[in-house]
Amino acid sequence: MDFAKAHVNGRIGITVKGATKPFALDASQLTVNSVSVNGRPAKFAFDEKGAKLKIPGVPARESLVEIEYSKQVSDDVIFGLYKSKYGKEYILATDLEPAEARTVFPCVDEPAFKAVFKLQITTEDGLGVIANTPMVSKESTGGGRMTCTFQDTPRMSTYLLFFVIGKFEETKITTDGIDVIEATRPGRAQDSRIALEITAESLSEYQRYFGVPYPLKKLHIVALPEYHTGAMENWGAISSRESYALITEDTSFTQKNRGAMSMVHEVAHQWFGDLVTMKWWDDLWLNESFATFMSYKMTDRLRPDWEMWGIFLRDEGFHALNLDALSTTHPVQGHVRDVFESMHTFDAISYGKGACVLRMLEAYVGEEAFRKGVSNYLKEFRFSNASGKDLWDALGKASGLPVTMVAKEWLTRPGYPVVRVTTKAGKTLLSQSRFTLSGKKAPGVWPIPISLRANGIEKSAFLDRRAGRVNARADRELVVNLDRTGFYATLYDGAGYERLARNFSQIGPHDRAGIMYDLYLFLQADLVGPELYARFVALCGANPDAITAQIVTEQLMQLTAIADESLVIKEVEPEYYPPLLDAFGEEPRPGEPPYVGATREYLTSQYASVNESYGRKMASLFENFADLDSNLKPAAAIGYAMTNGARAEKRLQDMARTFQGEVDRANVYEGLCAFKEPELVEHTLDLGMSGRVSRSDSGYPLFLSAYNPYARDVLWGWITRRYDDMREMYAGSQQFYLYMARAIPMCGVEHEAEVRRFLSGKRLKEGGSSVTRILEQLHINSRLRKRLLKTRN
Ligand SMILES: [Zn+2]
Repeated sequence: MDFAKAHVNGRIGITVKGATKPFALDASQLTVNSVSVNGRPAKFAFDEKGAKLKIPGVPARESLVEIEYSKQVSDDVIFGLYKSKYGKEYILATDLEPAEARTVFPCVDEPAFKAVFKLQITTEDGLGVIANTPMVSKESTGGGRMTCTFQDTPRMSTYLLFFVIGKFEETKITTDGIDVIEATRPGRAQDSRIALEITAESLSEYQRYFGVPYPLKKLHIVALPEYHTGAMENWGAISSRESYALITEDTSFTQKNRGAMSMVHEVAHQWFGDLVTMKWWDDLWLNESFATFMSYKMTDRLRPDWEMWGIFLRDEGFHALNLDALSTTHPVQGHVRDVFESMHTFDAISYGKGACVLRMLEAYVGEEAFRKGVSNYLKEFRFSNASGKDLWDALGKASGLPVTMVAKEWLTRPGYPVVRVTTKAGKTLLSQSRFTLSGKKAPGVWPIPISLRANGIEKSAFLDRRAGRVNARADRELVVNLDRTGFYATLYDGAGYERLARNFSQIGPHDRAGIMYDLYLFLQADLVGPELYARFVALCGANPDAITAQIVTEQLMQLTAIADESLVIKEVEPEYYPPLLDAFGEEPRPGEPPYVGATREYLTSQYASVNESYGRKMASLFENFADLDSNLKPAAAIGYAMTNGARAEKRLQDMARTFQGEVDRANVYEGLCAFKEPELVEHTLDLGMSGRVSRSDSGYPLFLSAYNPYARDVLWGWITRRYDDMREMYAGSQQFYLYMARAIPMCGVEHEAEVRRFLSGKRLKEGGSSVTRILEQLHINSRLRKRLLKTRN
């Protein structure tokens, strides 16, 4: 490896047993110089797509195939083997999931083809080199070069291989005899502690929970200055964007929580994904839902005052409910034909719905039977591959319950039910049908474990037919789906909503959050009117509750983005924001739980966007930006930008370019995307792609300006001009479509036909159904916009 030139001269030896005819390896973007089989030169050729390296002379008996190849690392990509840049320097890093290993070395790039990797890297002397396993030797080879040899890996899949080369500082904690090490670029090591601690704590807690030891001697976190997603679970060496791995006491709760959770998620993968891997990408959800569910469960154990299950509802459950109500949704456990199709399954369905179903299953079988089943599954399939059914069977065996049947019903079908609730003569009547945002009828009956509270008495029922009844008098009180553990929506009748409104102050936080989310779904689907929704928003203003306030504020952000002129939304603002700001204050209060900081961030930043005088008040805090309570920084940046317009631009841009910490840069982008002057937002969008800021930041402008109603037209115009540049930057990655799925359904609300025309030519294989999904959500938003503008406007 020539680090300075970013050039690879690679040599790989693969022991092949039982070679098929014709024998071929996955290899792309590599120049192959020679191939030998059992020591003799062999013929080779690439297929017409340049993606398969065909080697006809490999016999069926055990053979050694050796390949010499080279590769020039591109300056433009940020995955595969790429340059993670900072200032004038870079780190060479790999990021190989799902199908980039083949761009770094020839291999059979499928998760079921596990292998032991013996890695040796020769490069310039004096650089740091980190890989999955500990380095066993470093020898100088003369001419200013050295050779680093790493311990053999366990049997593992190709997408989990990892190495980085660059300059690093390291911080270490040892737990249960395992070194947990965070590597950062020089000068950033002092910000490692919080991520490192929770990683180490979760590592030892998982060993106890799973009853299976962590099989490696060390676990790295490598904080990368440019990173295109969040973090990645490479075995023994988690890679992460800096905002997740470099967090301090001063970091806002939202960012701290996101970073810590992300580490706990990747540590869960060290077992679930790395030790036992899905057979094929159609079971990707098994990796992701499980790691997602476990990250909440484990963080809740380690940080009980973080209100993790409330955050679970905000970030996982509700997003999944929205996506899964589109006709373009897919089953959690779906059929994936090729690896490109797998990319669009990295979404809120794989992560969020899967995690919700696991939560429902844990509640169904009990915590201990769930743990036992998971532990047995990991023991049986360690260093190997498994499918979803293997896990259900293990949970079934541990609990004696028909888990496989229940799991199948929820995971192999798309969508979920809406349960309609009415009351009559001392009985509660329930009926179910599939819920769709479009309002189109769709078939489906689910086996639903239902919980409810009627006149103070808790009851449970199992609804596995279209309709059923529960003997429960509910004239005073009726709440269904207690603590929001079920993955379904509940639609009450008029009397039911009256009852909920009357009792709102008595309803628990997760139940309130559930009611608000269902109302938001029904508002989109035209099952309830804007007035009813607004009435409950006002009730949330009068009944302060930290998590519900975060969820409702996020809904109001979306509604403002697509229909800021709507009177019904404007009129509810004074009933919502001021009382909540009063209740939660603008300064931390002694003894308050940490997640209240996030509520303060949501409320202040959104109110600063919609209320000019409040925006001015927040702007006055901007002068003290560095010392400001981190939860108020977004609001200060937004207020500053909205109040000062063009006069604020240069200062904010300079901060985005020069701030070392990604977390603070993210706060600055909040301001840069909040301008009322569309041309200034356009400058921000250009800045993200200009190469003058970190490529880790390229998503912020798109993501954040999507919420700015003044920027709707300019954002849509910008996307049409820069779509191909963006796609190229993220080519082969799902990240591009995640950004587009966020931005287009909001900024395109007044251009639906034009968006449709534009995107019709852009259905690309790595996007799968992403484009049709974007169009469907856009249609729903446009329809909602029209309705909101008609109501009292
Ligand atoms: Zn994951």
